[in-house]
Amino acid sequence: MTATLLTALADLALPATCAGCGAARTGLCRSCAAALTARVRVADPSPRPPGLPPCWASARYAGAVRAVLLAYKEHDRRDVLPALGGALGRAVAAGVPRGPVVLVPVPSSPAAVRARGGDHVDRLARAAAGRLRRAGWSPRVVRLLAVARRRRDSAGLGAADRRANLAGAFRGSGDPPRAPVVIVDDLVTTGATLAEAAAVLRATGVGALHAAVVAATLRRVPITPCRPLCHARDETGGDETPPRG
Ligand SMILES: [Zn+2]
Repeated sequence: MTATLLTALADLALPATCAGCGAARTGLCRSCAAALTARVRVADPSPRPPGLPPCWASARYAGAVRAVLLAYKEHDRRDVLPALGGALGRAVAAGVPRGPVVLVPVPSSPAAVRARGGDHVDRLARAAAGRLRRAGWSPRVVRLLAVARRRRDSAGLGAADRRANLAGAFRGSGDPPRAPVVIVDDLVTTGATLAEAAAVLRATGVGALHAAVVAATLRRVPITPCRPLCHARDETGGDETPPRG
């Protein structure tokens, strides 16, 4: 078998580049995979939106983490889903003791679902549930939230404008479960999306509420250290404004 043919076969079997750093002919490389769980911390937006439940993030939204999330969301790189699901699972595990847990994905708009060929947060939640199950939790993904009305794109909006943009954006869907509920999303920026989702769930009778995300932004979300499941390695990165709150 010629070297050219072997290379062609390798390209078919693996994505052309690492979604995080662009390294050639590999899936997600070790370094970028490690970055996804490098800083499991409580994300504490400032100002903190009223009603935001305790929110755990697995990494900072910068550098390779940002690249991997964008590759997954905007360029349909499904090969990174297991790693992102693992990162979200770590954030859930940091906030909720081992046992039953209900993961509630923040719903995407119908337009985003069409553009991305499905709900990217729902897929993340299911990947996270698989990881949690293997680690001894009893997770269920339940779609307790639905989109109630259209939202403007929140990119570039300040905290108050994001809250106003999100008011009434979701509606409750289904009965409150007895297990702890964790609202899950890919990112937290100002916390406005998660606070609005939490308000809707509380109105339907959900009691014990937490939130978990893959990544937290640097600029608007100072991250305070926690004790459990923390990693010592620090990261530095850019100062980005992600597309949602
Ligand atoms: Zn990489």
